Amino acid sequence: MGTNSDERLLENQWYRVSSRLKAEIGETAYENWLKPLRVREISGSEVRIAVPSRFMRDWVVANYGERLRDLWAGENPGIKSVDISIQPGSDTDSGEEPASPRAVAATARTSSDARQARGMVAPGEISAPLDPRFTFPNFVVGKPNEFAYAAARRVAEAASVPFNPLFLYGGVGLGKTHLMHAIAWDIVERDPNRTVMYLSAEKFMYRFVRALREQNTVDFKEQFRSVDVLMIDDVQFIGGRDATQEEFFHTFNALVDQGRQIILSADKSPSDLEGVEERLKSRLNCGLVADIHATTYELRLAILETKAEQMKISAPPKVLEFLAHKITSNVRELEGALNRVAAHTQLVGRDLTLETTQDVLHDLLRANDRRVTIEEIQKRVAEHFNIRVSDMHSARRARSVARPRQVAMYLAKQLTSRSLPEIGRKFGGRDHTTVMHAVRKVDELREKDGSFAEDVELLRRMLEG
Ligand code: ADP
Ligand code: MG
Repeated sequence: MGTNSDERLLENQWYRVSSRLKAEIGETAYENWLKPLRVREISGSEVRIAVPSRFMRDWVVANYGERLRDLWAGENPGIKSVDISIQPGSDTDSGEEPASPRAVAATARTSSDARQARGMVAPGEISAPLDPRFTFPNFVVGKPNEFAYAAARRVAEAASVPFNPLFLYGGVGLGKTHLMHAIAWDIVERDPNRTVMYLSAEKFMYRFVRALREQNTVDFKEQFRSVDVLMIDDVQFIGGRDATQEEFFHTFNALVDQGRQIILSADKSPSDLEGVEERLKSRLNCGLVADIHATTYELRLAILETKAEQMKISAPPKVLEFLAHKITSNVRELEGALNRVAAHTQLVGRDLTLETTQDVLHDLLRANDRRVTIEEIQKRVAEHFNIRVSDMHSARRARSVARPRQVAMYLAKQLTSRSLPEIGRKFGGRDHTTVMHAVRKVDELREKDGSFAEDVELLRRMLEG
């Protein structure tokens, strides 16, 4: 094979591999991490890829290394490994460390390393890596999180510290970590000279305990005290650890006194944190406390729509509505559900339908399963058709209420073990023949009218789980 055709082959394979990975990880992550990669050659069973910096290499290897290899093996079964090595200048920005947010993850300025002084170093020993998907543009804003979002934006955009600390709290999987990372990306994108340190409270404790053991607490303190923005995630874990709390309190005060921004998250409000000293609680309450509430149906739907678009999966609205109705726990589960159905349909090459969705998520949906009551059916159906629940019992015979009533009777027959007379009684004392008629009528309409059939199906799945 000639060099040209080799190159073309390589480019084609890379194109397919990177397109698939892009579909999996989203546009933003692709732009940040994959686009700067340069495929150099295939040598034996190894693909060789160049990245412009050590930071990028570490990130790409840690987060996408295995996936790259697997996808490549899928394109070309001869490939057994992917080697990712640093080649300064392989990106468009010559040898310089790129000043884009992909080079964030700052540590302290105390090191002599010149890059560190610019706040753009390899995922430092202390600062944890930031997830490239967790950005402001990727955060879907709705009623439950608009306040926390606005506060986060404010902190990121402000030239001087607007409130200290910013304390974000809310249940698991509702976007606290996402917002913190988004602040970090945004700050460093605006000013690469600012150092942002992000770490979990657990890691903070671990480092502190280690420093104590190594009698090295001076250095420990210095590292934290020289950052512009310190973020500590999940501070509920600090509760009860007195020495760590003490240290945290002093670090906190020192940073505040120096006008540095502190951002904290927890699953509870400062006042509700267990095992935390009063003086620390009151300090935490001094800044802005913003809570993220449980998701609403509207927010869940908006998140699903956004993610489906990012993942380039064409999901019928009915499927997304169904998921938004059924998976109410948190955003993480919602994402997980969408990923699962998307992966499944891609694998088996079938269209995404309500049917497949329910099959694939069987276990997940069953976890929320409950017995359906006729009252629930009436309520749901009334909501769906925009009529009053009382119309389920009323004598009104206008089509606009009679049809939904028939659908509700039909579903009551399908989803509960009630007898026809029992169902009739629940619908304003109607006769069992009325219920029978409704069941037949709905069956007949389902045959004739596809969109009616889908409506009924959606309602059924929603109620049934
Ligand atoms: P927490 O830290 O509160 O437990 P995370 O920030 O880890 O939750 O969020 C869990 C997942 O849900 C993440 O993948 C995150 O991107 C996603 N997520 C949460 N809220 C939103 C939102 N409003 N818009 C888009 N994605 C969200
Ligand atoms: Mg979190």
